[in-house]
Amino acid sequence: MLWSAYGVTDAEGGIMPTYEFACKKCGKKFAVMMSIGERESKRIRCPKCNSLRVVSRVSTFCAVTSKKS
Ligand SMILES: [Zn+2]
Repeated sequence: MLWSAYGVTDAEGGIMPTYEFACKKCGKKFAVMMSIGERESKRIRCPKCNSLRVVSRVSTFCAVTSKKS
């Protein structure tokens, strides 16, 4: 018997969540796949206008729903 679909959540260190960003400058929305460590250190640039003024949107990894406006 094959247990092929067993333990799919056990991806310690191997998970690559996708983060969504939106550019404040041109409004371009884009997604970047990177590790959590990369997210801390990496400077995200807009692929369209190369601006660093990007804001992170809802990530597929950690969807925090704090509605503050
Ligand atoms: Zn842009």
